[in-house]
Amino acid sequence: MTFKELGLDKQLLRALEAEGYTDPTPIQEQAIPIVLQGDDLIACAQTGTGKTAAFSLPILQYLLETPQDQPNAPRTIRALILSPTRELSIQITDSIDTYGKHTGLRSALLFGGVPAHGQLANLRHGADILIATPGRLLDFANQGFVDLRKVEIFVLDEADRMLDMGFIHDMKRVIAMLPKARQTLLFSATMSPEVKEIADQFLYKPLQITVAPPKETRSAIEEKLYFVEKPAKIALLRDLIRENRIKKGIVFTRTKYGADKLAKLLDQASIPTGAIHGNKSQNERQRVLNDFRKGRVHILVASDIAARGIDIDDITHVFNYEIPEQSETYVHRIGRTGRAGSKGIAISFCAREERKYLNAIEKLTKKRLTIIEEHPYRPSVETVSANDDFRRSNAPYQKDRDRNRNYYSRNRR
Ligand code: AMP
Repeated sequence: MTFKELGLDKQLLRALEAEGYTDPTPIQEQAIPIVLQGDDLIACAQTGTGKTAAFSLPILQYLLETPQDQPNAPRTIRALILSPTRELSIQITDSIDTYGKHTGLRSALLFGGVPAHGQLANLRHGADILIATPGRLLDFANQGFVDLRKVEIFVLDEADRMLDMGFIHDMKRVIAMLPKARQTLLFSATMSPEVKEIADQFLYKPLQITVAPPKETRSAIEEKLYFVEKPAKIALLRDLIRENRIKKGIVFTRTKYGADKLAKLLDQASIPTGAIHGNKSQNERQRVLNDFRKGRVHILVASDIAARGIDIDDITHVFNYEIPEQSETYVHRIGRTGRAGSKGIAISFCAREERKYLNAIEKLTKKRLTIIEEHPYRPSVETVSANDDFRRSNAPYQKDRDRNRNYYSRNRR
């Protein structure tokens, strides 16, 4: 199947060709015809599957084929894409502008954390497609700067993340401003009961499609595991970054405070490092991301929410400095590397108290992480008290390694 066979307009095909895309990805192949025939859609697909183009291309195609009612009237917003984060909104806008560059259609972008006047000026130029995060959109709509009454296609992107981030009420307020007669497309990496409820409430006879994360992406990521206690993690991280001469790596931490502290320590060890998390200003985040993209910063320390939706190619290593409590978070994190078939390495640091999260991760990924036993920061048996069940559940730390290996393999699954 090619894009041409999907019946896309010449102007879109030209832009796709310039990007080097000839064949649609599975989600594009399934979603584009559904969107073009006007049905509501629930698409279960994560970042990396090509989901952005799966809704952007048919939206552009529809707007090209179906011009505004009054040709000479000012442009009205006919497609709205709601996204949970600033970074994701920027990426979606970039994609739409890239695919739509020969179409004459215009996009506008709204997100919070920056002064409003630039966004307002852009909006006043007129836009056919609006990409927005919920808070700033509501703010603009309430002030009468945005009119959503002419929206024909509404996309809810990363609906699960939107709910995780507490946007449920804002989301509902936005939907209340849209015409009832519209086409709604819901994209989500996971289909939780909460997401289903949203779909039941706001979609009309939706068709549902699910695509697995691309196989080659999954197998292109090598997943390694180090047992290491908290105080020794920084030294192990520093050594691994140096030994592997890592030029593009992301380190995930659980807390904002942890991210800053870690970035500072790495920087002091002469490893150019930047941090992004929710407390940073939008300008600061963009600056750090830009430095990372350009290679001026080699390591990006990030919290999960801050990193959501960031699409940077060529990330060679992802570190789970702390093991995430939610196994899905692990999948999201390591999906930052091994993009587009290139090889990626995911390295997880597991302290005693994090041991309990591993089983759930391995169950979800249906994969065993490769334990790296030989490293200078291995916890010693002495650090474990005799009556601690750590000794039982973390047998590889014991001195008799062969016995332990058997013990371990018997007890891991
Ligand atoms: P997404 O899942 O939308 O974040 O897309 C993941 C990556 O795949 C992005 O870097 C896209 O530019 C790229 N991409 C999207 N569609 C295609 C395609 N049909 N062929 C090759 N690459 C694509």
